[in-house]
Amino acid sequence: MHHNKIYDQPRYTISQAADLLKISIPTLRMYEKNFLFIPYQKESRQRLFSEGDLTRIRCIRTAINTKKFSIEAIKLIYSLIPCWDLKNCSAEDRSACPAYNSHGFPCWSFKHEDNLCELENCRECVVYKEYSDCGKIKTGIQKISESV
Ligand code: SF4
Repeated sequence: MHHNKIYDQPRYTISQAADLLKISIPTLRMYEKNFLFIPYQKESRQRLFSEGDLTRIRCIRTAINTKKFSIEAIKLIYSLIPCWDLKNCSAEDRSACPAYNSHGFPCWSFKHEDNLCELENCRECVVYKEYSDCGKIKTGIQKISESV
């Protein structure tokens, strides 16, 4: 997983990102609304995209266009990433966590008001950054199961 400063640096506006990805701005917005990615937002709320974001979105596009995954299917796959293991949540955290107790939505799609994710920035979280990289999810889950 190549994470370096340049790769992660938010630099492209939404229209530049749409051009580079050869998709429309409304499509990008629709992906965002469906939690397929979390954009970097400046204080002005303007969205900026990094190379890493573009790689992530390209992989999502391939899943949708070539493999015929639906957006719901991608969300379901994201919801299966065992964030509770990665974050080492307590039983108490789990019982209060909407992500742990539901099905079909990525953990970062919820407002976490009463558990250890409350103050986290999901875009920077290991679950989002390292484990939801399209195409590498299974490798990540294998790593977790090998470590227990
Ligand atoms: S911080 Fe966000 S991405 Fe990380 S486990 Fe919590 S909800 Fe998920």
